[in-house]
Amino acid sequence: MPLTNRIALVTGAGRGIGLAIARQLATLGATAVIADYAAYGDEAAAALVRAGLRAGFVRVDVSRQPDVEEMVEQVRTRYGAVDILVNNAGIRPTRPVLEMSAADWDRVLAVNLSGTFYCCRAVAPGMVERHWGRIVSISSLAAQQGSTGGHSHYAASKAGIVGFSRSLARELAPSGITVNVVSPGWIDTEGWEGQLDGHREEYAARVPLGRLGTPEDVAHAVAFLASEEAAYITGVNLSVNGGLYIS
Ligand code: NAD
Repeated sequence: MPLTNRIALVTGAGRGIGLAIARQLATLGATAVIADYAAYGDEAAAALVRAGLRAGFVRVDVSRQPDVEEMVEQVRTRYGAVDILVNNAGIRPTRPVLEMSAADWDRVLAVNLSGTFYCCRAVAPGMVERHWGRIVSISSLAAQQGSTGGHSHYAASKAGIVGFSRSLARELAPSGITVNVVSPGWIDTEGWEGQLDGHREEYAARVPLGRLGTPEDVAHAVAFLASEEAAYITGVNLSVNGGLYIS
């Protein structure tokens, strides 16, 4: 599944699942551009370069459309037109509905769902022009079975990504662009640290395949959907959850 000469833009790739995706795409030959609002994305990209891979960093807040447009322009100038977009940036603050303000709701929707739209909106015209493109967006198990413990805004944003992506898949198919979703289950990342600490074995025991997922488990699925070999797959929602949810 070589991705030689492809330019891949991965949002929220400074750490966790996004970084594993960037590393996997770069390992397959792509130039992986890490887009993150955290400054540590710069060091993450530098580490990939030290490992002999092609990588770069752009700082962005995906919830701001003008910033996203500027980022895509910067990527085009520095590395080339975006062939592969992975919408991975996401936040998951805990707030039960009875305590949730409109601002809490808006922020999660702005980053997770609007951010996904802004990035697709910014890269799609170039992909249409070149008649080739891969868009993969990261949803969640929470969108499939609902979320407990104060993450209903998060679940709503992730379900929105699925509906948006299915529609975009239909819209962009005639232009040779595929649009797919990957829905991870319980993946052991920094973003989950607080929740998993002291409970790793307990969570792992609840997964039919008997372990928590790794960022690499998700990265392999994304890399497949970004590949030439996945040219006839569009509009799917691929679960990477160890059997936690089977539909
Ligand atoms: P993480 O918190 O470790 O990493 C997320 C990255 O996104 C961070 O580097 C952060 O700086 C960046 N980010 C956040 N808001 C941003 C913004 N506005 N603009 C640009 N960058 C921003 O999270 P993770 O666990 O690696 O999760 C990655 C994705 O996978 C998220 O979309 C998450 O919802 C999804 N997911 C994770 C799990 C899991 O179990 N970890 C499960 C299902 C889905």
